[in-house]
Amino acid sequence: PYSGPSATEILAKRKAYLSPSIFYFYKNPINIVAGKKQYLFDEKGRRYLDAFGGIATVCCGHCHPDVVSAIVEQTGRLQHSTVLYLNHAIADFAEALAMKMPGNLKVVFFTNSGTEANELAMMIARLYTGCHDIISLRNSYHGNAAGTMGATAQCNWKFNIVQSGVHHALNPDPYRGVFGSDGEKYARDVQDLIQFGTSGHVAGFISEAIQGVGGIIELAPGYLPAVYKSIKQAGGLCIADEVQAGFARTGSHFWGFEAHGVIPDIVTMAKGIGNGIPLGAVVTTPEIAEVLTRRSYFNTFGGNPVCTSAGLAVLNVIEKEKLQENAHAVGSYLKDRLLTLKNKYEVVGDVRGRGLMLGLELVADRSLKTPAKAEIVHVMEQMKGSDMGVLIGKGGFYGNVFRITPPLCFSREDADFLVDVMDHVLSKM
Ligand code: PMP
Repeated sequence: PYSGPSATEILAKRKAYLSPSIFYFYKNPINIVAGKKQYLFDEKGRRYLDAFGGIATVCCGHCHPDVVSAIVEQTGRLQHSTVLYLNHAIADFAEALAMKMPGNLKVVFFTNSGTEANELAMMIARLYTGCHDIISLRNSYHGNAAGTMGATAQCNWKFNIVQSGVHHALNPDPYRGVFGSDGEKYARDVQDLIQFGTSGHVAGFISEAIQGVGGIIELAPGYLPAVYKSIKQAGGLCIADEVQAGFARTGSHFWGFEAHGVIPDIVTMAKGIGNGIPLGAVVTTPEIAEVLTRRSYFNTFGGNPVCTSAGLAVLNVIEKEKLQENAHAVGSYLKDRLLTLKNKYEVVGDVRGRGLMLGLELVADRSLKTPAKAEIVHVMEQMKGSDMGVLIGKGGFYGNVFRITPPLCFSREDADFLVDVMDHVLSKM
């Protein structure tokens, strides 16, 4: 039983001592005191089905015993040394991670977050090419530091005080984009940006395989291969931001970009890599990695033994418990069931995504695609409330897209429960 402070007391402390920029998903935020598998528990012991997974972070399930014991064991032995000395944890995890990568992506730099990983990736691209211009996609999210905020392209996430040298290309968004699902047409915009917005040479291109914060937007088919070709011709490097789509989440593949048949020059990752432990990484080729030897490059906590032990345990659990296969099977089943809601309710404008990275967009008018902002807040509250106990994510530029990114151990029964609850709430609207 929980004997700590109540939700009200915690809320008062947060108001007094935490940044006023922190926001909540629910009118009465819940006080989560424990997590197990795909479930979270509040102070009263009430169980919630977690369909958001700490924003696509918890891949093995909350507090997976193998990950916990890896962390505890390593914490008891050695928490920190710095990479200036030898320790096997960082080397073992780097090796295991490199084995999961295609092509010649074999060199790993560890960071503490996705923002840091993308900052480093963009710097590497700029160093390698001697160019500054980077192209990213409108509606993307890549982080909140100077460079990554520049790459991020949604006004609500930008404090626009730094000129970042990033050009934002048309988003190849099959639902709202001007060219529908024609990936090659959107790709021409990148070619135009190179020709008319730069010297003709660029440092690189960065994109998520499925936009997460942007509202689970899958890139139109054919887009990435065409863009990667243009970028290579302009001398740039292609960066895949796998912070949300990586680590088996998309089911069909371990990495999101693999579904597009491309091999990036640099891959960045975070979130799922540590199942909740702060950890990020940049993986690139030996040749590209060389650029960082031009100066000293160092990160105090990046790759510390505790976090990298957790990372190795995560990879082992994904393999042992066949979580990628599960994400594929349960995700496909769940998507089919969500599509039945689209047939049943006018307010469901679109269902999309792969594996256990799914989105459901609510619109007040199907032909105008008017974002149903009030409706989504209502449905979300109801799904959490009274007897339901389902936690789901929300996002997209207009805040009208459900984001379903649960722990990858989510079962068919969980999928049924989620859809039944959503169906019930929608039917009462
Ligand atoms: N890239 C993507 C695709 C993300 O979703 C996020 C976080 N939402 C980031 C980068 C930044 O990661 P972090 O919050 O760990 O800095």
